[in-house]
Amino acid sequence: TPALRVTEWSDVAAGWPRPGPAAEKYTRGVVGLATGSATYPGAALLSVGGALAGPTGLVRYAGSARAEVVRRYPSVIATDRVADTGRVQAWVCGSGLGTDAPAATELRCVLASAVPVVLDADALTLLVDGSMAERLRRRDAPIVLTPHDREYARLCGEAPGGDRVGAALKLAAWTNAVVLLKGDRTVVGTPDGRAYVNPTGTPALATGGTGDVLAGLLGSLLAAGLPAARAAVLAAYLHGLAGREAARHGPATAPDVAAALRTVLAPLTADP
Ligand code: AMP
Ligand code: MG
Repeated sequence: TPALRVTEWSDVAAGWPRPGPAAEKYTRGVVGLATGSATYPGAALLSVGGALAGPTGLVRYAGSARAEVVRRYPSVIATDRVADTGRVQAWVCGSGLGTDAPAATELRCVLASAVPVVLDADALTLLVDGSMAERLRRRDAPIVLTPHDREYARLCGEAPGGDRVGAALKLAAWTNAVVLLKGDRTVVGTPDGRAYVNPTGTPALATGGTGDVLAGLLGSLLAAGLPAARAAVLAAYLHGLAGREAARHGPATAPDVAAALRTVLAPLTADP
């Protein structure tokens, strides 16, 4: 069995990117979101909400929920397609994206980029097509996959089962990607066999759309320059804390979790 690390607050505090006096929005990182669709515009909003809570200086959105995103978040720069979106330093693709031909085109564009990517939800379903999986293995820049159990089962042909660490490591080795296997105790596994367990999860997160918030936050951490495994570990930890914070005020919804990220991050972002 591999050495297993349980994330602690000190890992987050040590790893959080803080802007220096010379900070500029582009140097803080630009995250791009290829999420949402006409059917699921909410997923776009939730992933943008997660990304805006992160450390990046700029959030860009590419997709069919463009109008909704800009109405709700005026600071986001939005386009219709990934191909028209410049200067992105990490992409998030898949949450609410759909699995039709235009969605597959967006995923191919994201995979063809030279920057780190998070693949969530429908992007994972599109990977079941072998040619997409091949593109994944050929990629040089880091990839993080964020399956829940059903998405894992679709990809791997079998459920994660009781050995969740082994299951995450198996998919990581097969895809050469960091795998964030979501659930009660979210596990992060790396292609080189490292594994991390997240202790902050809460069943309050078992509600629609919280995974989209996580994907956006994770993308922001990647765009800020964190290594993929560290970004995944920190995102899972902070997302769990935000779920707990949101649940203190009553039944939490995904927008509450995105809002609670700001509270959770306040000790890290306040001026000293
Ligand atoms: P998704 O299904 O993609 O919206 O993602 C759900 C999110 O909620 C993931 O971050 C899961 O880790 C988290 N989650 C779901 N169910 C539980 C649970 N029973 N305990 C802790 N976290 C959970
Ligand atoms: Mg999801």
